[in-house]
Amino acid sequence: MQENQSKSTRDVALITGASSGIGEAIARTLYDAGYALVLAARRLDRLRALAESFEDPSRVMIQQTDLRDPSSIATLFTEIRAKWGGVDVLINNAGLGRLAPLTSGDEELWREMLEVNLLALCICTREAVSDMRCRGDEGHVIHVSSMASHRVPGGSGVYSATKFAVRSLTEGLRLELRAAKSKIRVGAISPGFVETEFAEVYHGDAEKAKETYSQYRVLDPQDIASTVLHMLQLPKHVQIHDVLVRPTEQPS
Ligand code: NDP
Repeated sequence: MQENQSKSTRDVALITGASSGIGEAIARTLYDAGYALVLAARRLDRLRALAESFEDPSRVMIQQTDLRDPSSIATLFTEIRAKWGGVDVLINNAGLGRLAPLTSGDEELWREMLEVNLLALCICTREAVSDMRCRGDEGHVIHVSSMASHRVPGGSGVYSATKFAVRSLTEGLRLELRAAKSKIRVGAISPGFVETEFAEVYHGDAEKAKETYSQYRVLDPQDIASTVLHMLQLPKHVQIHDVLVRPTEQPS
C-alpha cells in the first residue's frame, strides 16, 4: 500500500503467523483480493521472501514479531498505526501444538502454547478492535481455531484447551461487540488436518510429520484461506461464527 493510501481506498489486514502454512496462504489470498497486508511472525527471512513475491511489495508491510513477548506485540501495533493508521481486519492465525501430555509434559511447552494460542490472540484482538472502533466501528476479527476446539484429540490436552478457549473467546468477543452496538464482526475457522509445518513442530520430528499427512488426503492451506475470504466477503449483516472444515476422510 502507498504511504498516502487510506482505508477509504484499501482495507488493512493483519495476519499473524504469516511466515508459513495457513497464514502464508491467507496472505496470498488477501493480497489477490486487494487488501493491504501486515505480515507478522518471528522468521523475518520468510516474511521478506513472501513480501518480495508480490507484484506490488509496497502494499505489504512486514513486522518481525514474537507473540510471546507483549512488548513485541505493542511494537507491531505502533508500527502499523504509524504507517497505515490501524487495521480493519485481524486474522489471528499464529499458533502451535507441542507434544506435551498432561501427565508427563514439560510446563515450558504448555506455557508456549498458552502464550501464543491464547494470550497473544487476546492482546492482538484488543488492539485491533481499538483500531477498528476508530475506523468507523467496522472490521472483522477471524480466529484460526481448530477441530481440537470441538473434541479432545488424545495426548493433546493442553493444545486442545487453548483452542477450546479460542471458541470461548469468539463468543465472548461477539457478546462484547453486541453490547457496544458495534458493527465489527467476529468469527472462527476450525480446521482438521492441514498440511503445514504444524505436525513437525508438534512432534519435533519430520518423519512423524510426514506420516501424519500421508494417512489420507488432508487439507491444503488454501482450503482454509478460501474460507477466510468467503467470510470476509459476505455482506456486512452476515457473521459466520465458526466453520468446521475437515478432510473428507478424517475420522474424528
Ligand atoms: P505452521 O507451523 O505452518 O505455522 C504457524 C505460524 O505461527 C508460523 O507462521 C509461525 O511463525 C507462527 N508462530 C508460532 N509461534 C510464534 C510466535 N511465538 N510468535 C509469532 N509467530 C509465531 O502451522 P499452521 O499454518 O498449520 O498453523 C496456523 C494455525 O492453524 C495455528 O493456530 C494452528 O493451531 C491452526 N491449526 C492447524 C492445523 C493443521 O493441521 N495444520 C489444524 C487445526 C488448526 P514463526 O515461526 O516464523 O514465528
